[in-house]
Amino acid sequence: MIDYHVHTPLCNHATGTIHQYIGRAIKAGLCEICFLEHLTLNKNGRALSMSPAQLPLYYHAVQRLSLQYRDRIRVRAGLEVDFSPGYSEQVAAIIEPFAFDLIAGSVHFIENTNIVSSRAIKNNNMNIDRICDQYLSLLEKLVKSRIFDVICHIDVPKKFGAALPERFYENIDALMERIGYNEMAVEVNTSGFDHPASEQYPAKLLLDACRRYKIPVTLGSDAHAPEEVGRHFDRAIALLESSGIHSVSGFRRRVRHDIKLEHQY
Ligand SMILES: [Zn+2]
Ligand SMILES: [Zn+2]
Repeated sequence: MIDYHVHTPLCNHATGTIHQYIGRAIKAGLCEICFLEHLTLNKNGRALSMSPAQLPLYYHAVQRLSLQYRDRIRVRAGLEVDFSPGYSEQVAAIIEPFAFDLIAGSVHFIENTNIVSSRAIKNNNMNIDRICDQYLSLLEKLVKSRIFDVICHIDVPKKFGAALPERFYENIDALMERIGYNEMAVEVNTSGFDHPASEQYPAKLLLDACRRYKIPVTLGSDAHAPEEVGRHFDRAIALLESSGIHSVSGFRRRVRHDIKLEHQY
């Protein structure tokens, strides 16, 4: 199996060394791991991201480790880019000199509020309806930007367990056709099992929509500590199978390929 969403200490909110993440993946029997370190240009999120100046260090470190471990596991280099309208050209220019395997897009910030932090939501009096509406409008722009190969944790506003307005899932479902048309993949992110949401991102009905629109999926733990690599994958794989999805996607130099779920776990 593969884990396509793993962080490193460069983002300032993850623990352990890159070696420890890879070691854990090998121990868990994974055949491939993709680092997806945060890159946030918007000033509100910079403290939770590596800086653009650290990008060469990150990229070359992962390339070096990829060679060092090549007999035991495939190591890929990617980015989890925070989507903010107005920064698209800058993002494209920053990543252009590097041969990343995967560029993923996330929405973490709405009106300068970090919506994956319960404290920030509370301090800024953001109610869930407002979060969902703003989130959807940013998600739509993210999809239309055509910068990204994968969308991370697509229904992340559910993170803290609030019931989401019905239109939220209807609107994402309506966006699915566009996601498929733009040849993007959707991430199945297992960190949600450890959040108050108590389930993977995305919800089962969106996995069913991925199947309906033939949208490929990746699988990632969103590990911010080595022991989180590959977390809850048995549950995620069972869900994928139950939605009629029998493969996950790997990427090499941003070209997607299918990895069959049979023979895994
Ligand atoms: Zn993070
Ligand atoms: Zn994220």
